[in-house]
Amino acid sequence: MASTLLGCIADDFTGATDLANNLVRAGMRTMQTIGVPQTPLDADIDAVVVALKSRTIAPADAVAQSLEALRWLQAQGAQQIYFKYCSTFDSTAQGNIGPVTEALMDALGADFTIATPAFPDNKRSVFKGYLFVGDVLLNESGMQNHPLTPMGDPNLVRVMQAQTRRKVGLIDYSAVAQSADAVKSRIAELQTQGVGVAIVDAVTNDDLLRLGPALKGMALVTAGSGVAIGLPQNFGIEPSLQASALPRAAGLQAVVSGSCSMATNRQVAAFIASGRPARAIDPMQIASGADVVGDALAWAAPLLADGPVLVYSTAETGSVKSIQSRLGVEEAGAMVERTIAAIARGLVERGVRQLVVAGGETSGACVQALEISRMQIGPQIDPGVPWCHAQCAFGDLHITLKSGNFGTDDFFTKAFRQL
Ligand code: ADP
Repeated sequence: MASTLLGCIADDFTGATDLANNLVRAGMRTMQTIGVPQTPLDADIDAVVVALKSRTIAPADAVAQSLEALRWLQAQGAQQIYFKYCSTFDSTAQGNIGPVTEALMDALGADFTIATPAFPDNKRSVFKGYLFVGDVLLNESGMQNHPLTPMGDPNLVRVMQAQTRRKVGLIDYSAVAQSADAVKSRIAELQTQGVGVAIVDAVTNDDLLRLGPALKGMALVTAGSGVAIGLPQNFGIEPSLQASALPRAAGLQAVVSGSCSMATNRQVAAFIASGRPARAIDPMQIASGADVVGDALAWAAPLLADGPVLVYSTAETGSVKSIQSRLGVEEAGAMVERTIAAIARGLVERGVRQLVVAGGETSGACVQALEISRMQIGPQIDPGVPWCHAQCAFGDLHITLKSGNFGTDDFFTKAFRQL
């Protein structure tokens, strides 16, 4: 049986890819699974990230799913567990970061862990326990208005304490800026004060790299994806090109996009401007019962041999709002997701083996339609977006899942050049 070093549990899908991407860049061969696998790991890799969708579900369900993931990771030999959440610490007053952290600590018999969403590469920094997003505090960043997890308090010691029975403390910048030994001394000091969970300050990658050695042997680490850059060295692993090596790519190329984010709108425009074939999907036509999937596949079939094609529902805010007011927000979203996913499946059935998917929710729908249960993480195309290799319903597939606002304007053509 294969054995893994680091076992990770992520509370959402694109967050799992973000963590896996950082681990690969730090030298770990990494696999991401969609949910908790029912079978043992059959690949020789260093880290596994189990992607859950537990960020905003009931705390008891999030705990149950996380514990199931923990048991599977332990059965694969994981030596350290990493609970990954969002770099804006997305949670409600009840959780789920606190309850899941405590349940994992209980199950592991751990009396101390850290918590920090710091991710300087993405402009998330923690100072004196306060979380900054870019130049402003969390509660001024827009996150105070988030529909599901409004973040009204930037002080993470208070936020975590509100969700936790254990005492919450702070490993502040004076220790983190100094050395791993200073962090270890601070941890020992906090433990004598009865602290079970400590928020950690970090404003640069150097801080995270100094933090890494202080976490060696800690049964549980909880963090955003940033802390991952300092952990592989604890297992004697250095950054290497081998970590991101994927099997050779072959086959036809396509892009499907259901993201309406600003970056994706620019990427669609750039792809069309490059002269490549592109076909828009009209949600009103889907609603009318037309065979939108069949028509798109018939359009794509003769073009695929000449290079990548794009099928997109991507639209500007005004047009999306108008569709939503006619069809309903959720109904429009689900209907378009189903359609794009069916087109992705049809394209792969017709020989596409290099597929770019744009949109977080859209990615979830496509992965499901393609019956993908695990992905090996490869080289980064743009920050947070790696190529992946997966077994799908129709065989081997190279796939990249781009969440809305990631990627440069030429992403849809650049991605294929990189493979
Ligand atoms: P992002 O990562 O940019 O947020 P998602 O795929 O997560 O992208 O979300 C986009 C949502 O918008 C999906 O539910 C998708 O089905 C929906 N959608 C896509 N195109 C349209 C459109 N033209 N009109 C209305 N909704 C759309």
